Amino acid sequence: MKGPNYSATELLARLVSFDTTSHKSNMELVRFVEDYLAQRGVASQLVVNPEGSKANLYATIGPANVSGVALSGHTDVVPVEGQSWTSNPFVLAERDGRLYGRGTADMKGFLACALAAVPDFQRRQLKVPIHITFSYDEEIGCLGVRPLIAEFGKSLIKPRMVIVGEPTSMSVVDAHKGPVRWHVEIEGRAAHSSMAHLGANAIMAAGNLLQELRSIENELKLAPRNERFNPPYATLQVVRINGGTATNIVPVSCSVEFDLRALPGVDSNSIDRRVRTFVTRECLPELQQVAPESRISIAIANQVPPFAAGANSEAVALALNLVGQNETHAVSYATEAGLFQDDGSPSVVIGPGDIAQAHTADEWIAKEQIQKCSRFLARLADWAENNSD
Ligand SMILES: [Zn+2]
Repeated sequence: MKGPNYSATELLARLVSFDTTSHKSNMELVRFVEDYLAQRGVASQLVVNPEGSKANLYATIGPANVSGVALSGHTDVVPVEGQSWTSNPFVLAERDGRLYGRGTADMKGFLACALAAVPDFQRRQLKVPIHITFSYDEEIGCLGVRPLIAEFGKSLIKPRMVIVGEPTSMSVVDAHKGPVRWHVEIEGRAAHSSMAHLGANAIMAAGNLLQELRSIENELKLAPRNERFNPPYATLQVVRINGGTATNIVPVSCSVEFDLRALPGVDSNSIDRRVRTFVTRECLPELQQVAPESRISIAIANQVPPFAAGANSEAVALALNLVGQNETHAVSYATEAGLFQDDGSPSVVIGPGDIAQAHTADEWIAKEQIQKCSRFLARLADWAENNSD
């Protein structure tokens, strides 16, 4: 029944060897984890995407049908294309106490620690079970975890709390901003630019919208600040514009993409409504005066909710206790924690490795961080063994 035990570093080497860049399949990695757990008598449940190319994995160690603590991480990594690596990014390399490889910090290091801890979890008489929840497509907008969460309370036990192991250098993160990205498509009417009155200029309509976005940005800056964040306000930026065909043609189309980084409590839906109202009242009529066929579409391309654990979070209290700290942190990057928290599972972010290493060439994690995380998980097992409330 029991396979050989592996160290976290050995498991990390295996996990890194699977090229799970978000646009590729993660099934080989998932099958490896499934086998590893099965060899120890732990059954996995997979939530597979419609194409069958990617899967989330959910497994429980300890009492069945009881809500426990989920160790949550994503299996996908960002691309290495265009980056200059000293060694093969998919072969774990140790140099000077550091483990190099794509995903070592973000966040296969945490996955490896969680898997390496499974034999220890099994040796204990856990009263509170520990769930393993590994997701796909986190790096492209926390997409994979959503169908997983949708199964909570149905085919999967909803966790009592969730530890998201994103790299925080093993400090306790209880809040982050939430990114929202909009995509606006403006269609006017082309004309020879000497016959401008016959055309409906899509770029000029976009210019109107840009001014409104600037007003929203300024208002967000003036709103009550949250000094835990850097910067201490929500930001809104136009991040991409595409429009026009030639210098002698009134542009028929223009696309605008903009990005909000919402503080917890900032209502992105009201910003969405405001933009739509502005477009309907201010941008479109001007185009349609000349070209009734003109249209403007607005879509939210991606939205990850901001995360705020709240003052009395059981998950934050547990994490602080296990890691022996008394201070929490807020960060600017987004994680899956807001999605779990909004679904009713108190969440906290704590994991090995430095976020500064994430997504970089020669990404690395300090071996000391792996050890620290492993100690943290051993203490979690102590707690889960001795707590029944
Ligand atoms: Zn990550």
